[in-house]
Amino acid sequence: MSDLIASRLRDVPDFPRTGVVFKDITPLLGDGDAFGEVVRALAARHTQGESRVDVVAGVEARGFIIGAALAHELGVGFVPVRKAGKLPGETVQSTYDLEYGSATIEVHVDAVTPGQRVLLVDDVLATGGTAIAAWDLLTRCGADVVELTTIVELAFLDGRAAMGERAVHALHVVG
Ligand code: 5GP
Repeated sequence: MSDLIASRLRDVPDFPRTGVVFKDITPLLGDGDAFGEVVRALAARHTQGESRVDVVAGVEARGFIIGAALAHELGVGFVPVRKAGKLPGETVQSTYDLEYGSATIEVHVDAVTPGQRVLLVDDVLATGGTAIAAWDLLTRCGADVVELTTIVELAFLDGRAAMGERAVHALHVVG
């Protein structure tokens, strides 16, 4: 699986700013067989007994693509974690630092019911700022977030350490 993902990633130098090498997942998304394999591999960890989840939450925007497919595969619902100002209902929000710049994300306060087991998904774990903010927002809404699952982990940015006690899974680790 790791080799398959590596073969479908494209390194884009100096995006979104000079000095950053961006891991572009669009070649992976554009390959139906590879995309399907990745979604099934992410889902396989959460189909049995206590590892099952009630809902998948994904972070805008690439987390929506992976997360919606993953939720469908698992037969559960999907919760969007959105950039500020996009959700129509009452929200809770968090502002955090990124590898480049800062961002604010939010979720509907009633997006999850207390105690619901939530699988958080994003395409890439970099510094961990996004995932920590999303995880803690969902927790503030009463969710029991069981894991952050990602396609790619950029290990040289130490996101896993920043995540602390929060469980992390990645199909492909870079660096
Ligand atoms: P972090 O908050 O962990 O530093 O950054 C992760 C977030 O930024 C994720 O939402 C991810 O989509 C995006 N991101 C950061 N670096 C990359 C990258 O190299 N490739 C992709 N596809 N997304 C990235």
